[in-house]
Amino acid sequence: MDEAAQRPPPPGPVPADDARFMGEALAVADRALALGEPPVGACIVHAGVVLAAEHNGVIGSPDATAHAEILAIRAACRAVRAPRLDDCVLYATVEPCPMCLAACHYAGIRRVVFGASLDDMHRLTGDECFAPPPSALELAGPVRGDECRALLARWAGALPPGRLPGQP
Ligand SMILES: [Zn+2]
Repeated sequence: MDEAAQRPPPPGPVPADDARFMGEALAVADRALALGEPPVGACIVHAGVVLAAEHNGVIGSPDATAHAEILAIRAACRAVRAPRLDDCVLYATVEPCPMCLAACHYAGIRRVVFGASLDDMHRLTGDECFAPPPSALELAGPVRGDECRALLARWAGALPPGRLPGQP
């Protein structure tokens, strides 16, 4: 089943704030690429203020769960000194995986905006999974998808043949 085909198209032009905050996520994703990490970035915004911006850190940590979204949720929870991020929006340069969507659910995040889709990730790396979003969560994208896909393509193109992303 093609999950992307079930998702409604973006309703008209991308809101300016979505494009701006995707830029914050893209900036940290770019830093990840320079560090040899998968170039995925995420930021969490509350009332127009960035609470946290993190990039994927699975290789340097090393920690298989150190996805950008998980690290951003942890940092944002520390910033607000609470385990809930109600009324926050999470921006991610790649559509969150099931683990990260579940973390959004537990943190109370109701809106997620992504750049490149999981479909894009799968096409470039062959190493991602697909899952429908939890029904209560608004998953909006692609926002600045071309830039987010270009970052993934730079990364995938630099991987040694036969090596899966994330393997040192
Ligand atoms: Zn994830």
